[in-house]
Amino acid sequence: MSKAIQAVRGMNDCLPSQTNIWQMVEEKLRRVASNYGFAEIRMPIVESTALFKRSIGEVTDIVEKEMYTFDDRNGDSLTLRPEGTASCVRAGNQHGLLYNQEQRLWYMGPMFRHERPQKGRYRQFHQFGLEAFGIATPDIDAEVIMLTSRLWKELGINEFVTLELNSLGSNEERAAYRDALVEFLTAKEDQLDEDSKRRMHTNPLRVLDSKTPDVQAALVGAPKLADYFGEESSAHFQSVCQRLDAAGINYVLNDRLVRGLDYYNRTVFEWVTSSLGAQGTVCAGGRYDGLVEQLGGKATPAFGFALGIERLVLMLTSLEKVENIRPQVDAYLISLGEGVDIKANQLAEQWRDQVIDIRLQNHCGGGNMKKQMKRADKSGAQIALILGEDEIAAGQVTVKYLRGQHEQQSVALEQVPSLLASLI
Ligand code: ATP
Ligand code: MG
Repeated sequence: MSKAIQAVRGMNDCLPSQTNIWQMVEEKLRRVASNYGFAEIRMPIVESTALFKRSIGEVTDIVEKEMYTFDDRNGDSLTLRPEGTASCVRAGNQHGLLYNQEQRLWYMGPMFRHERPQKGRYRQFHQFGLEAFGIATPDIDAEVIMLTSRLWKELGINEFVTLELNSLGSNEERAAYRDALVEFLTAKEDQLDEDSKRRMHTNPLRVLDSKTPDVQAALVGAPKLADYFGEESSAHFQSVCQRLDAAGINYVLNDRLVRGLDYYNRTVFEWVTSSLGAQGTVCAGGRYDGLVEQLGGKATPAFGFALGIERLVLMLTSLEKVENIRPQVDAYLISLGEGVDIKANQLAEQWRDQVIDIRLQNHCGGGNMKKQMKRADKSGAQIALILGEDEIAAGQVTVKYLRGQHEQQSVALEQVPSLLASLI
């Protein structure tokens, strides 16, 4: 036998035992997005490499070491998208969706980053992202954060996530702060790790975000970005906080929250959890008022976020929030006896016509009662409908309940659609 080819490291198959959880999560994400007036946009998975370099930033982890970049057959440099915002802005500009108008968009799909695979961190992973364009006022910041908060409630995990909030001010304010921070860091250089020493010169704010305890200790007494804010940035942030307070959404102010992508300004936020180990950020985003112009459009304010679907699914599973998800099959139809399977084919079609959303699996491939019951049980169905020669003669099916303690019963064929409908 030849050696079987395996999936690429860090790129996972999503198996049928998991897809019903994914579908439940995806449905909720879609519904909540539309509850707030957001419409879906679908972008390609491959983009010009220049798009990500120009938006995410040349000296970010993503662009420096995580992108899947290759030359195609024409010699053009292409990249598998590591995130969705850049593509979404590119598409918005290209199709004139952002010019002098407001736009509320969401997308969902695979993203690619060459990272070290571990729990909650993969090389192909999936994000749900949402972007609001054309609104500069803090009401949209609050509205989008409220949307994320509603998601956690819908998924039953609101008690297990914490909102962290910060403001990065304007570009000018950040530039002034950067100088003060570099001066502070230079004095502490011997206490920094290699990564932070390097970042001190390329992207000093990222040092604030370092996970190394020694670096965090060295940062005690560092200058604070908020001290460099002008009137407008302060008022904007206060207004966001006020609106969250009014909505009863709790948050923790974290002045070290800087995000790993260069395009953010003003409000930034992350939802974090302690139930995932080291990969604790489930959802992250903020304002990026400069990006649309930076990518060749007319200056347009914007606010958005992305969440990692794998991390959500892991959380739901470890918190046992997936027990009541509807199984892939509601009812399993068993047929026994000469020619009964032909009748079963016919009845199954009829019932599917009558009960639109039913998940009815008709047994195929023959076999005795024992074999068919085994299949019925494995399918996850709540009931088995048993059709034999006697049943056909009496115009009935025998109903066997596969979960819970119910007596087996006979049901007239005309009553089967309402029985099926009761399972949904
Ligand atoms: P982290 O700090 O965990 O590396 P990040 O800041 O790089 O996250 P973003 O670029 O903000 O992440 O992406 C938004 C969300 O996408 C993250 O909060 C996380 O839930 C998810 N995510 C990011 N990278 C991965 C990955 N390699 N595998 C799985 N999920 C990921
Ligand atoms: Mg990362």
